[in-house]
Amino acid sequence: MILEITKYGHPVLREKGKRIDRITPEIRQLAADMIETMYAASGVGLAAQQIGQPLQLTVIDVSQSEQPWGMTPSLPQPVILVNPQLLHPAGEQVGQEGCLSIPEVAADIRRAEKITVRAQDLDGNNITFECTGLLARAAQHEVDHLNGILFVDRMDAATRVSLAGQLKRLQKETLATLGKPSRLRRALAKL
Ligand code: ZN
Repeated sequence: MILEITKYGHPVLREKGKRIDRITPEIRQLAADMIETMYAASGVGLAAQQIGQPLQLTVIDVSQSEQPWGMTPSLPQPVILVNPQLLHPAGEQVGQEGCLSIPEVAADIRRAEKITVRAQDLDGNNITFECTGLLARAAQHEVDHLNGILFVDRMDAATRVSLAGQLKRLQKETLATLGKPSRLRRALAKL
């Protein structure tokens, strides 16, 4: 099932994901829906916060991208990462990044060129792989999401200033769609 992607301004995007201690049928279904949602949106990664669930769960698939990437050992994609951790960042890459939760915004972001990912898969097995290029970028972007960090937080100051108006508008639009919380906000503003 294709899920709705939460947009910038939604508070769940700022929540740190809860660790997943048990792979339940619901978690499996969620991962399957996240993969479907990611492909439908032509994304290369999606974090649980982006479908409204603050959990340590993300899916990535860069296999169709023309940008260079590497993975050792090579695992089939999409990769489903439960409770992922990033280790041994090395080198540096600067490249254009976007986010399905922040439409029409792109900026150059500095990331490690190479990083090791350690996580569990949906069978509870530990998986570890080293990745480079776009896959390393995607892993860092998604693990940031799982910690409530967005790529706009990593832009340089000048870029952030130039995008401030656009982000403010998007945040306002998102809050307006949140229904009850936004009505509460309006009520409080009158006091
Ligand atoms: Zn994102």
